Amino acid sequence: MITSTSPQRPDDIVARVRASTPEDVHEAAQAARKAQPEWIDAGAAGRAKALGQAADAVQEAATELAALAVREVGKPLAEARGEIARSVAILRYYAQQPFDPVGATHNPSGAGLLFTTRRPRGLAGLITPWNFPFAIPLWKAAPALAYGNAVLLKPAEPATACALRLSELLTPHLPAGLFTVVAGGADTGRAVLEEADVVSFTGSTGVGRAIVAAAAQRGIAVQAEMGGQNPAIVLPDADVEATAGSIAAAIAGYAGQKCTATKRVIVVGDAAGFVEALVEAVRNVVVGDPAREDVTVGPVIDAAARDRVLAAAASVEAGGGRVLTGGTEAGDTGWFVAPTLVDGLGADHLLECDEVFGPICSISRVATLNQAISRANAVQHGLVASLHTRDLAGVLDAANRLDAGMIKVNAPTTGVDFYLPFGGVKASSYGTKEQGKVAVDIFTSSHTVTIEAG
Ligand code: NAD
Repeated sequence: MITSTSPQRPDDIVARVRASTPEDVHEAAQAARKAQPEWIDAGAAGRAKALGQAADAVQEAATELAALAVREVGKPLAEARGEIARSVAILRYYAQQPFDPVGATHNPSGAGLLFTTRRPRGLAGLITPWNFPFAIPLWKAAPALAYGNAVLLKPAEPATACALRLSELLTPHLPAGLFTVVAGGADTGRAVLEEADVVSFTGSTGVGRAIVAAAAQRGIAVQAEMGGQNPAIVLPDADVEATAGSIAAAIAGYAGQKCTATKRVIVVGDAAGFVEALVEAVRNVVVGDPAREDVTVGPVIDAAARDRVLAAAASVEAGGGRVLTGGTEAGDTGWFVAPTLVDGLGADHLLECDEVFGPICSISRVATLNQAISRANAVQHGLVASLHTRDLAGVLDAANRLDAGMIKVNAPTTGVDFYLPFGGVKASSYGTKEQGKVAVDIFTSSHTVTIEAG
């Protein structure tokens, strides 16, 4: 059985369903494969129409879906609304993809015709985390479907109700069996891996690596988006107030539970004024019931996540640092943690070198941009980095040398446009990026056709 409960009111059971067994997954995979020819026969116009109708359905249900995200994964209401709007935009964007060319014609070496074409891979297995319970499943499912694949979606257990509701909205517009949510945990995920022709995963680095290895063992295409340990580098010429506000939101928004959240702040030069402003900005973020309009920091997802953040904060003094603000629980019920800033840790402390998925961030101080870039790069992850300065030469230098798949200048690490490639380098990602046009590389195979005049 899977039980998902509300992180702000843990006695509120949001979903309680039977976990899909390997037999269930096999049956769903067979039904999906059976449905796929009808989906391909629908042609570009048919697939575009169906995805457009799915977008309308999600749009019509926007208020209800945002409320469900608030209740099931504790996402603050304003962010939940933003996620639904993004989900609709993703569906509308990929609804147009069937009209794109699927290859190119080239000059042949001799007489004849030489061209490339793309085919759907078949059955796409999508394994997703809980933190974007609608947008992440959709930024995988929408391109998978647009390019003609069938889909099995294995959502994270804490987001089960969101995934099942999404399925109710999408399936009326698709051939029966083409898209199925298989609820469950790691065992269900492993069963999906056994059935799929391509796997797209988002989640933690450890699980992602195991999935990549298992997919490689089966010889199927795989793509994985994993953790981040994202730095924000602040140069002496940055606008102190604006930068502090922007970074505070990137640290604490949605209780720091975004792969793109800022986890490290690296201040170049005399840091005192900026650190003071950042502490003030972090103290000013509104923590509370995520259903409230004014709240930006709700609970973390469960008791274990809360305990990990509190344990990391408790280890700071022994690591030679100090807690500048936070480090405690916040609230009587639910898994609330006060947004936490720590300072003065060595590069080998957990908070500097690994992802703690919650509202906690470590500050370090260096003398030069060069040292800041070295410190930023001295971790296994490389998802996104931000740089705050008006110095164009510094920006260009950092843009060339930061180990990050996405680089933001005078903007928070969080929030990336849905129509551009999303993903990182090093331990943050494996395989091609996702979103935007690059999704075609995940969900289709390329074929080169040479025709000689017989
Ligand atoms: P998780 O790795 O625990 O779980 C992700 C998914 O994998 C879930 O559906 C889970 O049930 C499944 N799973 C777990 N073990 C499995 C196994 N052995 N075989 C198959 N499936 C298995 O991650 P989470 O706690 O749901 O999400 C938080 C993590 O996701 C953070 O590390 C965060 O940085 C990362 N994340 C990354 C991105 C990105 O795009 N880079 C986006 C959002 C979240």
